[in-house]
Amino acid sequence: MELQTAVVEDYLRTIYKLQQSEAPVTTSALAQAMDVSSASASDMLKKLARKKLIKYKPYYGAALTPSGMASALSITRRHRLWEMFLVETLDFSWDEVHSIADRLEHATPANLEKRIDEKLGFPERDPHGDPIPRDGALMDQPLARLVDFTPRTLGIISRVSDDNPELLQYLSQIGLRLGQRIVVKELIAYDDSLHIDLDGSDIFLSAKLSRSIFVRPAD
Ligand SMILES: [Zn+2]
Repeated sequence: MELQTAVVEDYLRTIYKLQQSEAPVTTSALAQAMDVSSASASDMLKKLARKKLIKYKPYYGAALTPSGMASALSITRRHRLWEMFLVETLDFSWDEVHSIADRLEHATPANLEKRIDEKLGFPERDPHGDPIPRDGALMDQPLARLVDFTPRTLGIISRVSDDNPELLQYLSQIGLRLGQRIVVKELIAYDDSLHIDLDGSDIFLSAKLSRSIFVRPAD
């Protein structure tokens, strides 16, 4: 039986995302990210390997092949363009768009994708700061997690993790947005929380939060 395209696309996009921080991608990491059992994740990995979209060895993990990578970049591009469109054009907030984009990305013909891209003025990043692949490639700048950023130097908030809507809501509540200036004033060794200056306000961030925020040094 032919695999359902939407499911395959979801897996490829997720493997691609996980590959950014951990390669090869383990079955358990994938199962967790897809919210399925390890048994069904490993079944799916075997199917993707048969279609030559990934290389997969049990107990080792999975890595995208060139054709798997091309599909992953194309679905990631549609996902991130939709997220941007929903925020920029329909005024959704950044915590609402992931699950909607998750559905729309599978039903986006090339001419619609092109019109969205044009309407948005060819954006380079999505509302969470993730780069939008273009021409089958992705230009990315390395960013530091806030928790690893040099204290007392000026940084610019450039990306936030988009895994969890509650996290994004909380970041909005404390007034955190992409492009803001941030300085780590102190790392509190007791619990790895951070005392930061965010555009002039004094804020304390938990260690968990500070691992979800990414910064680049200010020019
Ligand atoms: Zn995103």
